[in-house]
Amino acid sequence: MPSAFERAFEDELAEVRAAGLWRELRRIEGPVDTWVTVDGVRALALCSNNYLGLANHPALAAAAARAAAAYGVGAGASRLISGSLAIHRDLEARLACFKHTDAAVLFPTGYHANVGAIATLAGRGDAVFSDRLNHASIIDGCRLSGAEVHVYPHADAAALDALLARSTARRRLVVTDSVFSMDGDHAPLRELCRVAAARDAMVMVDEAHATGVEGATGAGLVEALGLGDSVTVQMGTLGKALGAAGAFVAGSRALVDLLVNRARSFIYTTALPPPVVAAVDAALDLVAREPERRTRLATISTTLRARLRALGFEIPDGAGPIVPVLARTSERALAWSRSLLERGVFVQAIRPPTVPDGTARLRVTLMATHTDQDVEHAVAAFAALRDRA
Ligand SMILES: *Cc1c(COP(=O)(O)O)cnc(C)c1O
Repeated sequence: MPSAFERAFEDELAEVRAAGLWRELRRIEGPVDTWVTVDGVRALALCSNNYLGLANHPALAAAAARAAAAYGVGAGASRLISGSLAIHRDLEARLACFKHTDAAVLFPTGYHANVGAIATLAGRGDAVFSDRLNHASIIDGCRLSGAEVHVYPHADAAALDALLARSTARRRLVVTDSVFSMDGDHAPLRELCRVAAARDAMVMVDEAHATGVEGATGAGLVEALGLGDSVTVQMGTLGKALGAAGAFVAGSRALVDLLVNRARSFIYTTALPPPVVAAVDAALDLVAREPERRTRLATISTTLRARLRALGFEIPDGAGPIVPVLARTSERALAWSRSLLERGVFVQAIRPPTVPDGTARLRVTLMATHTDQDVEHAVAAFAALRDRA
């Protein structure tokens, strides 16, 4: 007999299903690569954030194995207790160099980094200004901070300026994704920085989807635009293009020391496992040594965008490996995702609340290691989808 609690869970789940918002975990056999076996079906993977194809790279796996042999698997405690190893410090120094900043600090995930940094830098009496399409971890950081939250229309620097002009908050923090996770477009960072500087606000940039992908050395969009001096807080993740796990915040020494002293999601959590730290180090070697991965990614992204558009699909303006294919309704997005899997293409339907109502979509993402043949396979599957629709 289910308890009253369980019956209430079932009622809530029935509502989720009725709204076309049911989510389920797919079973992937074997490693995450360009082709995967999803629930027993062999399919081209067009939905990971493993943009450079490093998650299953032998150099990362070998570095992780060596670190496991040398240091063991777990850090054993939070950094401030006994988990701060030399390899954590070395990686932080390397990340600071990579980002052209004075210092950097590791977090277990990007979610931890955003929540911890925002709640440390803004509190009661302060105000945070956040793009409407910012990642959920930024939204949660804003909520947790206790600061006033002002959400500005997507990528709208003029609207941000108007909100900042009216704010009397003591400290003002502007926060934005640099590359938007579900849309793939770029924040107007130059304009946002100009507006923020004129209104005496600090800027925090989340480079989760730009780290390893954008910029001359792969450091991100802040590097590409030469805005390092205008951005106070640069956050990046290590589990997407860099193929491992974890995240970091880079900036001044004072910023990093403040986070070490105040960010609860840094203080009260176990440090990154040594094999992960070593894998990130190996990934940074490859990002430096193989810029052709970034060029390849840009090339096939442009190709796929143009080809899908030519088939009549609605693809918003943008550049880079995140190619949203708008279906508009959740039902249509799910139906598309299902038919594509039948044709050997694995791509997820992204529905509200991850994206605004009426903008359900397939979020197609590319990897530098996708072959030209893979791209053709994807185009053919989409063409068949259009012919049926
Ligand atoms: C994925 C993502 C995060 C969270 O990073 P994790 O390391 O996966 O927790 C934060 N911000 C953005 C924009 C992201 O896409």
